[in-house]
Amino acid sequence: MPRLTQADLSERNKAFESRTPQDLLRWAAETFPGRVAAISALQRAGSVVCHMIGGLELDIPILFVDTGVNFPETLATRDAIGEACGLEIRTLTPPQTMDEQTAELGVLYCTPEGQKECCRLRKIEPLRAVADQFDCLIGSLRRSEGGQRSFCPILAADPDMNVVRVNPLVTFDDDSLNGYIDEHSVILNPLHEQGYPTVSCNRCTTPVLENEPRRAGRWRHLGPWQAYCGINPTDLDTDTQTAVELPQQLIDKVLGREADFMI
Ligand code: SF4
Repeated sequence: MPRLTQADLSERNKAFESRTPQDLLRWAAETFPGRVAAISALQRAGSVVCHMIGGLELDIPILFVDTGVNFPETLATRDAIGEACGLEIRTLTPPQTMDEQTAELGVLYCTPEGQKECCRLRKIEPLRAVADQFDCLIGSLRRSEGGQRSFCPILAADPDMNVVRVNPLVTFDDDSLNGYIDEHSVILNPLHEQGYPTVSCNRCTTPVLENEPRRAGRWRHLGPWQAYCGINPTDLDTDTQTAVELPQQLIDKVLGREADFMI
């Protein structure tokens, strides 16, 4: 199968820097018809992507990974956004409940190595189980989040899922995000107003003080060495030779070698 590397995507990424998030979402829907989904944990930026997909009436389902230990507010946000925006939300779940996992493996998330395994079992594996249904997964990473995400490309090769990742909000800074939320009254997880700038599982997310970094509440019990769960490959891998395998015709389309679509 032909390979598409991160280096191959560099010219396309440069050209896409000036595109709006809506342009990029339309491009993804037209380039990968029936083979594209958005992943959302229903945090602020993810809710904005969901709202945009609904507003544009794109045929893009939303994949939500329910680890079984999400906050009830997160599940309620998922249901409210799905209903309000007319979205098809597919909830993915791990094969074991957290109780079953704990009975078999113990409490994993209390150590750095255990946390990686727990996130793999409860977040990454449910997504991997459906990855062969897609050639493209849309995310909601933003460079203004800082850290590794400061360098996040718009298009990224994800060899683990063998998909092209599209991050339409990478150039959205906080003002742009908040402006969109206010203008469109986007439904948000109420925990964001209760001291949680970011929200994940209830076992590993705490509120954040005003003088702390916005991700300080994630895996606080593990200390500063752990910052990401790994579900977004560009958080961990910036190798330009990272590659996915796709049909040549689709690679040509991704790279703009065919003029059968416009953005
Ligand atoms: S965030 Fe915590 S509870 Fe959730 S999957 Fe990762 S380690 Fe497990």
